[in-house]
Amino acid sequence: MAGKVLVYVDHFRGQAPPGTWEAFGAAVRIAEALGGTIAALVIGHGVPSLADQAFTYGAAEVFLGDSEAFEDFRAEGYADAARSTVQQADVVVFPDSVRTRDLAGMLAADLDTGFVPDVTALEFEGGTLLATRPIYAGKLLSRVKVAAPGKPQLVSLRSRAFNAPMADLGRTGEPTAIEVDSAGFKTEVVAYRESEGGVSLTDAAVIVSGGRGVSNNPSLEPPADIADEKEIEIWRAHQGFKLVQDLAAVLGGAVGASRAAVDGGYIPYAHQVGQTGKVVSPDLYIACGISGAIQHLAGMRTAKNIVAINTDPDAPIFKLSRFGVVGDLYKVLPPLTEALRARLGKG
Ligand code: FAD
Repeated sequence: MAGKVLVYVDHFRGQAPPGTWEAFGAAVRIAEALGGTIAALVIGHGVPSLADQAFTYGAAEVFLGDSEAFEDFRAEGYADAARSTVQQADVVVFPDSVRTRDLAGMLAADLDTGFVPDVTALEFEGGTLLATRPIYAGKLLSRVKVAAPGKPQLVSLRSRAFNAPMADLGRTGEPTAIEVDSAGFKTEVVAYRESEGGVSLTDAAVIVSGGRGVSNNPSLEPPADIADEKEIEIWRAHQGFKLVQDLAAVLGGAVGASRAAVDGGYIPYAHQVGQTGKVVSPDLYIACGISGAIQHLAGMRTAKNIVAINTDPDAPIFKLSRFGVVGDLYKVLPPLTEALRARLGKG
């Protein structure tokens, strides 16, 4: 398979996240630059439809390993199944996920090559890929190449950093079956349990986030049965987050939060954006009552458009924002949401 770009079709029990198809967008560019073609690798159980989709997204060849034992992802068995196909590629593109970081790292070690995770941009120098990845909480952008001549170059792509190509629904093909053997599994998935407040921030095109400022409305009188100061703060924060949620709902977006909001008990951790939360790249990120600490910026600075609403004109978040509103979120959000509701015909 020399000269080929291989896309690993990442999925959870047959459901592929959007990032999987975005990887094909990057693969098209890589294949053009290297003069190669695109192949795809699908491993799982009951996943021929993913192979079909891979053809529609531009794969000339699809390798399919389908077996009941592969229902649940486990890096060690998947790595055994993927190794020989990966070994024959020049470049292997993974959508970035907890699964692929595990898998690609293991494959890179097995094949004595390099793996560059969380890539946000790609360039080419001859036949070598130059990958850009943010480091130090996004303060520096490092350019990294895989220095293992003759070996596959492995990269994983940050969700939403690349665009998926238009699927050509008329494109079909016959996948090539590959051997999958369950002997390599050293772990077993015993059960899945949905985590509390599970939210899909990384795939959201629009995120409206709230920070400590959502609790700052002293004129909001709490119900008589709430007397404790901390409880009053949390109650006020919930009123503020309702405004954040309303705007997110009108825009069809997800709700994010700063760590101060999470630590304050305003909203579950699943919503946290930043260095110790989720890293997101939406088309639009609206930060409400968030100062813009470096650790928060680490999680959202690659958003395509940032809008900040903050009472402090010197808040650092404004430096990164395309549009800024200096004002109280309690006064700004309701009319903004209403205006957008009317404009978008959601009244
Ligand atoms: P603040 O900094 O207190 O800012 C609140 C803002 O709200 C202010 O700018 C204020 O002007 C504004 N405001 C107040 N009232 C209103 C109102 N009514 N209307 C509009 N604006 C108003 N933080 C993260 O977010 N994510 C992380 O993943 C993260 N990881 C961290 C990891 C480490 C190791 C450390 C040390 C810190 C981390 N932090 C993280 C914390 C970070 O340093 C900041 O403390 C946090 O981001 C501050 O959150 P905030 O902006 O909501 O609060």
